Amino acid sequence: MSPRETVIIDGKAEAAALRAKVASEARRAAVRPHLAIILVGEDPASHVYVRNKMAAAAEADFRVSLLRLPADVAEARLHREIVARSEAAEIDGILLQLPLPDHLDRRAALSLIAPGKDVDGLTPVNAGLLAQGVAGGFAPCTPLGCVHLAKAAHRSLEGMEALVVGRSELVGRPLAALLLREDCTVTAAHSRSRDLAGLVGRAELLFVAAGVAELVRGSWVREGATVVDVGIHPRVVGGERRLVGDVARGEVLGRAGALTPVPGGVGPMTVAYLLRNLLEAALRR
Ligand code: NAD
Repeated sequence: MSPRETVIIDGKAEAAALRAKVASEARRAAVRPHLAIILVGEDPASHVYVRNKMAAAAEADFRVSLLRLPADVAEARLHREIVARSEAAEIDGILLQLPLPDHLDRRAALSLIAPGKDVDGLTPVNAGLLAQGVAGGFAPCTPLGCVHLAKAAHRSLEGMEALVVGRSELVGRPLAALLLREDCTVTAAHSRSRDLAGLVGRAELLFVAAGVAELVRGSWVREGATVVDVGIHPRVVGGERRLVGDVARGEVLGRAGALTPVPGGVGPMTVAYLLRNLLEAALRR
């Protein structure tokens, strides 16, 4: 049997289209949403993500203000800054860039964000609404982007066998909840799951957010499956810097029906959904 052609799902194009749609909806509604970003410390990856988010917001003509706090900031100061933004009438959305330095309690900080301004969908209120399957909250941006990319390959996900590898608060767990909302049959795999290869082999829709470079091998993947690769890992190959995902891309090509690339897959969608959630927050206020 000759290998099948694997469709590469173009996350950059999907994200550009979504950003343009959000910007035009904002113009039509005559709102100019204001995003407040809080960045603590000097984590280089976080600085890159914040720059990308600010550039996308500027491109949509949204307002952004950035507060940079030192890595050794006192917890009380961080909490004060979050509460001030939660109460500020001119701010529509708040993004606390993660990870935080070790001495800061992420949950305590996130819970101070007003749920109506929680454009990252990480407060207990919004996570709870998503877990309960209740509409009207904010879902996290990366999982929203993953579902969007799967829908770029399939008009409806209803009834499909979906596997999510990873159960983190930021990606795997909310993604499983969103897929239930799409009427998928959802399996959640994690570091303690037995026979990951066997679980992967059953999935028509495979989402991998394990944070382990090239964890999923091509031979595990079901023929024709749609594969969404959330992982991002910098690698030096032959003296050249590049990014690899949680899926062994070279092995999956010719076997999967569709695959998201790294980079240019989930990453740009995350930023686009931040703008979508921000506009939604501004319109609701
Ligand atoms: P995390 O480390 O918080 O969670 C990883 C999850 O994977 C855990 O639940 C763990 O149980 C599971 N896991 C680990 N090893 C496993 C194994 N061998 N088999 C099965 N499950 C395993 O990571 P995260 O925040 O969810 O991020 C996952 C990946 O996605 C990372 O590479 C991260 O850089 C990337 N990421 C990308 C974006 C984006 O916008 N593209 C956004 C967030 C995260």
